[in-house]
Amino acid sequence: MKTAIFPGSFDPFTVGHASIVARGLPLFDRIVIGVGINDNKRSLYTPEQRVARIAALYHNEPRIRVVAYNDLTIDLAHREQAGFILRGLRSVKDFEYERDIAAMNSRLGGVETVLLFTEAQYAHISSSVVRELIAFGKDVSDFVPQPQP
Ligand code: ADP
Repeated sequence: MKTAIFPGSFDPFTVGHASIVARGLPLFDRIVIGVGINDNKRSLYTPEQRVARIAALYHNEPRIRVVAYNDLTIDLAHREQAGFILRGLRSVKDFEYERDIAAMNSRLGGVETVLLFTEAQYAHISSSVVRELIAFGKDVSDFVPQPQP
């Protein structure tokens, strides 16, 4: 069973994140979306709200599970018996960060990181920009995926 963790803050989960999940699904048997709890980061949504929203998006997809975690991603990967960490790359800025984290996760736990390039139409979408739009009362429905009934 090929399992990947897709870790992130997901505050909130955006169409950019959803695109990485959709494109990761054919590569793995299971994807565990890990909502990282970081008490040092000021967040808009609680971890419980983030998990519930993401779980609602994928309630018809038995190969996806959503969990919150407050330890290292490598520990979550081991708990879930995942051999892979899935991440998305938007820019050179993401690249440098992802390279270092991937090297550390490989060294700490022998877990391989799989990076997917963002689709061009999502390259400019980040949770932080979406949070800013929400703070100023803008409609973010183009940037935040809506659950299907
Ligand atoms: P983190 O705080 O760990 O960076 P994020 O929730 O911001 O968590 O992002 C989780 C993952 O999704 C990261 O690998 C990030 O690069 C990727 N990602 C975020 N936005 C996009 C996007 N628009 N297109 C592709 N990947 C994205």
